[in-house]
Amino acid sequence: MIIVLRPTASGDEIERIVGLLHSEGYESQLMHSFGERIICCDSVSGAPPADVIGKLKASRFVARVFSQRTRYPRVSRESKTTRTVVTAGPMTIGDQALTLIAGPCTVCDSETLFQTAEFVKSCGATGFRGGAYKPTTSPYSFQGLGLAGLKLLAEVKSATGLGIVTELLAIENIEAVAAVADLIQIGARNMQNFELLRAAAKTHKPILLKRGQGATIEEWLLAAEYIADAGNEQIVLCERGIKTFEPLTRATLDVGAIALANQLSHLPVIADPSHSAGNRSIVPQLGVAAVAAGACGLLVEVHPNPDTAIKDGAQTIGHEQFRSLAKAAKKVRDEGMVAEVGLEPTTPRV
Ligand code: PEP
Ligand code: MN
Repeated sequence: MIIVLRPTASGDEIERIVGLLHSEGYESQLMHSFGERIICCDSVSGAPPADVIGKLKASRFVARVFSQRTRYPRVSRESKTTRTVVTAGPMTIGDQALTLIAGPCTVCDSETLFQTAEFVKSCGATGFRGGAYKPTTSPYSFQGLGLAGLKLLAEVKSATGLGIVTELLAIENIEAVAAVADLIQIGARNMQNFELLRAAAKTHKPILLKRGQGATIEEWLLAAEYIADAGNEQIVLCERGIKTFEPLTRATLDVGAIALANQLSHLPVIADPSHSAGNRSIVPQLGVAAVAAGACGLLVEVHPNPDTAIKDGAQTIGHEQFRSLAKAAKKVRDEGMVAEVGLEPTTPRV
């Protein structure tokens, strides 16, 4: 249960509410979360009975009561009336405009980086992506340029004004990554690396939290809750596809998860059509589908000559493809084709 307090609620009033819950056998916790004061109270035996909820709702110090059990009170949609907008350097994520973040999978030579950065900027991108530290399935694959890669990203940033999105792979690199990144990426493989989440949160830089390849939506939101609970409320969720039985794509873009995450959380949700596709021919379609489902931004792998990209060339699109994806996706976002019909999520029957 979440009880959202009115700004007028004094310490005494809060104690009275906590006392009421306590007398009914419910332990509760006061939290300062995203500008609201909320009382969270959950019990394995379920929500408090209707008369207790009635008393809470009757209090003039209570703005709202959400009686369902939630394991992620801070990031839950119920705890905040407005949607969170994250500002990360020049990137604004979660407002009406579509946010485009694009660049190669992996930081490569300076000429290619600058060429790509200038191009994506001309298409309306405000963020440049590229990994200096790469998580690789094989230990023999290229692991990224490391510090030299971060230096190149810093040069792109100062020359173009684009915001930098780059992955934090290990706590030992946190200072160097945080010094360059405007938005720190936590990759799919680290979504449940709780120590890394807490450490990243403590940098006070905005965090891009990719959904784990095998993570449920609830696990993803709980990972976001870790970051919020560690004191960092600048969180962007990124759906990047989940593992399914389908071998013709690298992952399956979970379009439903984009819509649901928007209903369950007030955090902005973006999508990465590149890692879900694994195949560049369907990246534009997935990108547009993600925006139609409610993604407020896209993270896309782009390279001037994708076949020569150091990593993930098969899913990387060229400049012209990015131009048309950006145009189509912006049109979908601007024309408000995103369905907001006000239905509450229900539990599917299996
Ligand atoms: C990436 O963005 O290059 C990447 C490795 O992403 P993910 O963690 O989603 O696989
Ligand atoms: Mn990649």
